[in-house]
Amino acid sequence: ITDEYVQPYMIYDDSMQAAYVDKAKLTGELQEGIAQEQFKVYYQPVIDAKTGKIASAEALIRWIHPEKGFISPGLFIPAIEEDGHISELDFYVLKKVWQFINERYEKNKFVVPVSVNLSWMDFYDEVMMETIIKEIDQFKEVGREYMTRFEITETSYAAIRENRSDILESFRIRNTKILLDDFGSGFSSFGMLQDYDFDILKIDMSFIRKMEENPKTKSIVRNIIGMAHEMDIETVAEGVETEEQVRFLKQSGCDYIQGYYYSRPLPEDEFIEFLEKESLK
Ligand code: C2E
Ligand code: CA
Ligand code: CA
Ligand code: CA
Repeated sequence: ITDEYVQPYMIYDDSMQAAYVDKAKLTGELQEGIAQEQFKVYYQPVIDAKTGKIASAEALIRWIHPEKGFISPGLFIPAIEEDGHISELDFYVLKKVWQFINERYEKNKFVVPVSVNLSWMDFYDEVMMETIIKEIDQFKEVGREYMTRFEITETSYAAIRENRSDILESFRIRNTKILLDDFGSGFSSFGMLQDYDFDILKIDMSFIRKMEENPKTKSIVRNIIGMAHEMDIETVAEGVETEEQVRFLKQSGCDYIQGYYYSRPLPEDEFIEFLEKESLK
């Protein structure tokens, strides 16, 4: 793995990170945090642009630390990655999501597919990958569709491609969905589309932010959507906050919309309320 791929994870504000995360203690605290259920899985609804109804959700981790309070994943995820312990946390999230969907499913309650973020490092964790694949093989066909959506970033794709494309292939033949996260933020976005059949492309939030002031950004977004559709890839716009953005994205044929405009990431109980309301629509 070259520096070019690793670097984007490292460019967080050092002073902020130091204030929140004492790296020397992080490994121990992570284990403790998992044991004490300090980590919570939040769910952010993703809305179907055509119907306005919920189509899926994204699982996002939250760390509610007993002394430091709420720690943003933008701060602790890079630190945990650096420590090499990210797969423990990602597997924890995945199990919680599977549990959640299973429970809803068994009670015949309304539920949607939930995508989980995977770090490139997870692909190098043999035990985790074997366990995931074994589990997937045991899911019933219907449940499988809800429980096997994985988000990987452009930068991590490059790292995975280098040595672990066999796992991507194992996922692919099991019909899991692979979502390309933060599309357009990296250096080689287009090359990746030639290389792998991604199912869903998530347009990076930075484009959505810039759309209002820069007409060129609108062209880029509109054409990313068109290009994706031509390749049979669905599109999600991330970080959508305003009605104007929603209107433009609908006009441009974007399939799904995710952002504060519809909902923030919600703790499990509030997400259940959201699902219950949606099931009545
Ligand atoms: P991401 O995967 O790109 O997730 C989207 C981020 O955008 C989330 O930040 C979400 O809360 C935020 N967001 C959603 N809608 C809006 C909006 O309308 N406006 C704004 N300003 N922000 C919005 P979050 O939860 O802080 O997560 C940050 C990053 O941490 C994620 O970016 C992802 O890369 C990573 N992450 C979060 N959970 C996990 C996890 O379980 N495993 C791994 N490996 N990474 C995770
Ligand atoms: Ca994501
Ligand atoms: Ca596929
Ligand atoms: Ca993203």
